[in-house]
Amino acid sequence: MGNWEWGMGNWQMFENTSAAIDNPAYLMHRQWMSRALKLAQEAGEAGEVPVGAVVVDDAGNLIAEAANRRERDLDPTAHAEILALRAAGKALQTWHLNHCTLYVTLEPCPMCTGAIVLARLALLVYGVDDPKTGTIRTVANIPDSACSNHRLPVLAGIMESACRTQLQDWFAQRRRGREGA
Ligand SMILES: [Zn+2]
Repeated sequence: MGNWEWGMGNWQMFENTSAAIDNPAYLMHRQWMSRALKLAQEAGEAGEVPVGAVVVDDAGNLIAEAANRRERDLDPTAHAEILALRAAGKALQTWHLNHCTLYVTLEPCPMCTGAIVLARLALLVYGVDDPKTGTIRTVANIPDSACSNHRLPVLAGIMESACRTQLQDWFAQRRRGREGA
């Protein structure tokens, strides 16, 4: 499993081969992503776009967790990743999160990708690509761009189908609600 940086589609190894299923690193990633999915679910039930994020240190301790709160806080910056990074900085008493991994259900937007790069995370793990605002690789690649001073290892596609289904279901439900109103 050596190479976790995306770039050659390596993440597909985790989702598409049976050999990956018993890999301890894969199981650990699934465990934390499950937690992020649960946070996202609660946010979705509260009327937010369901996105959840978890920060874990290199010893496997949970440092911080958050979900999207944009509607509840009336704050355009209250994305799950931003809130989780802020909480992690407070918990660890440093902004420099170079021994932490951030798990997030959806590929980060430009704002969150910027914050992730500034935090100098050891690893970003996300679930599903965002074709609208994903700036890890889908719409743009901020971490590898000239404006990034941190080389960010990324693992994409952990629990991809669960993350995709959660978002699709939420948007479908919202559409139905609007049509019924
Ligand atoms: Zn964001």
